[in-house]
Amino acid sequence: MGFSILGLSPTEQMDLRAIEPELINALKKAAARIIICQANSKLWFGDCSQQWIDQLRMRLIRMACILNIQTILCQSIRIDEQSNAYAHAIIPRYGWRDYTINQHGDAFLKYTQDQWFCIRLDRRWNTAPLFKNNFSPISKFQTIAHEITHIFMNTRDIAYGVIDCCELAIANPNDAKLNADNWMYFIDEYSLLRYVEFRSSRQV
Ligand SMILES: [Zn+2]
Repeated sequence: MGFSILGLSPTEQMDLRAIEPELINALKKAAARIIICQANSKLWFGDCSQQWIDQLRMRLIRMACILNIQTILCQSIRIDEQSNAYAHAIIPRYGWRDYTINQHGDAFLKYTQDQWFCIRLDRRWNTAPLFKNNFSPISKFQTIAHEITHIFMNTRDIAYGVIDCCELAIANPNDAKLNADNWMYFIDEYSLLRYVEFRSSRQV
């Protein structure tokens, strides 16, 4: 299933179609590669204990499963309602929940049915590069990664940006594990395509 696209230009549709498999790959790759004492987990979550790594791996796999199976509606915000944000996650039909913990086996998927997951793209989305490059702080890939942690895991916006998220992980790992940008930066480490756009633009 994945992204269901409504009212977006052909370019925006192509961008989302490129992000979808790459995001699933990054989640699966992160789950496959994380090990105890891993630096990435320490950097973004302030924790690399066995207990946390086990939970992190399960939550990454479950996010990939939900993205693979359920529909996430992606639509533009009307121009007169736009703000200076990149995107917004809309509250799911039955409210904000963390679908990646507290259920055994595949039971978590049952709770993700009929939730009407929805992401609305805002003004700054249009100016972001598809994947991270050296010139822009936030990419479209990172934006979608950030928003799916809101709708799949009920993450919060406690801190934004690399510096504040690193400091949060040191000062308060529990808050870092709840913060959307900390998850986004962690997941983004596993995207292979981060520099592709930059390379291809140099070749032109
Ligand atoms: Zn957010």
